[in-house]
Amino acid sequence: MQKFILSAFLALPLLAHADGLPDLGDVSQEAVSPQMERQIGEQAMFQIRADKSYLDDPEVNDYLNRLGGRLVSFSSEPGQPFAFFAINDNAINAFAIPGGFVGVNTGLILLAQNESELASVLSHEISHVTQHHYARMVSGQQYDSLAALATVAVAILAARNNPEAATTAIVGAQAGTLQRQLNFTREHEKEADRIGIGILEKSGLDTRSMPVFFERMQKATQLLEGNTPSYLRTHPLTTERIADVDGRVQQIPYRLVPDSLDFQLIRARLIANQKIAPEAVAYFDSALGEKKFGNPVAQRYGLVLALLRNNQPQRAAQEFAVLQKQARVNPTIAALAGQIKRLDKQDKEVVAYYRAALKNFPQHHALIYDYAEVLLQDRRYEEALKLLDEQVAINGNDHKLYALQARAYSALGRHQEEHHVLAYNYILHGDLHGAIEQLELAQRAGNDYYQLSTIESELRQFREIAAAYRKKK
Ligand SMILES: [Zn+2]
Repeated sequence: MQKFILSAFLALPLLAHADGLPDLGDVSQEAVSPQMERQIGEQAMFQIRADKSYLDDPEVNDYLNRLGGRLVSFSSEPGQPFAFFAINDNAINAFAIPGGFVGVNTGLILLAQNESELASVLSHEISHVTQHHYARMVSGQQYDSLAALATVAVAILAARNNPEAATTAIVGAQAGTLQRQLNFTREHEKEADRIGIGILEKSGLDTRSMPVFFERMQKATQLLEGNTPSYLRTHPLTTERIADVDGRVQQIPYRLVPDSLDFQLIRARLIANQKIAPEAVAYFDSALGEKKFGNPVAQRYGLVLALLRNNQPQRAAQEFAVLQKQARVNPTIAALAGQIKRLDKQDKEVVAYYRAALKNFPQHHALIYDYAEVLLQDRRYEEALKLLDEQVAINGNDHKLYALQARAYSALGRHQEEHHVLAYNYILHGDLHGAIEQLELAQRAGNDYYQLSTIESELRQFREIAAAYRKKK
């Protein structure tokens, strides 16, 4: 298990920098390597996962990773690992963190009218990463590169929605300077636009969506946000920049791109979850009613979700039956089918359903978590552990898997393993002290020699980091 979580563990020493001014004498490297960028990104992700604005929705995040992954595969660095995630915030914003982590606000996803529009912002962000703009941004400064970059990453987080938080995250006189450093230069913006257009074109998406969406973003930001920091702040959207993008895409032959059902489903899902439940039901009823608007399959998907939230399971099941007749096989709809099936407590086919659905869509996280949940509720702990172990082997940085594993171990009375995996869950949220506590509990809870030696070596490592952190304060 240990080796799979390694990428997160590599970032641990940087936790010492997380809360304040980094020790500028720490690192002497002149250039910032891709490995360092990745470490900085992992460290920032500890904090993001713990933030309440992190949207922990596997459907939305899987979709962003499918779309983002497709775009990355047409970038200049198709092998670079990327991770895309959503932030539950209506401000129109997206941001890239060094190392290939890209966050998108729900406000931006909802402002987009089609997949190409959303992809135009993702391509721009991907280009900032593949062009190493963060590293280039700090290498021009006299700060120690890595330390400054770590601070920049933390400040990006803090500045995301709250400009005052940004200045408290960065102590003292450097605050203003670093705040200014967060803004890409005009040249970086231009380069990210130009390279982003290339990615859109190669991905078979509509390049003309980029200037259209930029213009809508510019208008919406002016209208809705007043002084709130937004996309405009870190990526200034000037009329000149939009005209430049427009000039470029007009030279590319127009291509009609069919509407993406996945995009429309995710959009409907966000609306269904954001509105107050009865209002969400009314919204989708009206969308499907006389004044039809939008994609009917997506609108009905939203309606079923809204009905479930509004505690109307019977009508949800009826509407879902209609939806299933209209829709082609799709992982997001397959996951909803499982939820509908689970409404009927007498249904004996639920486990078999998930097993089959996961054969069709083995990468779909909503199905994986739901299946594990069903197995746990059915007290099939060994089966749940088998599923979860396989998933941990694929992605050791998935905190949810460890929480589910801990429940299975707890039910089986295997407390050493329970606390051991809980320590991983805590550390993935950046909670070093919580992780140490769990490892101490694990140490006392059992006597499996092999596991105990792993626990003790991790405990040593974590305590060293905690001590280094205390010394800095
Ligand atoms: Zn930008």
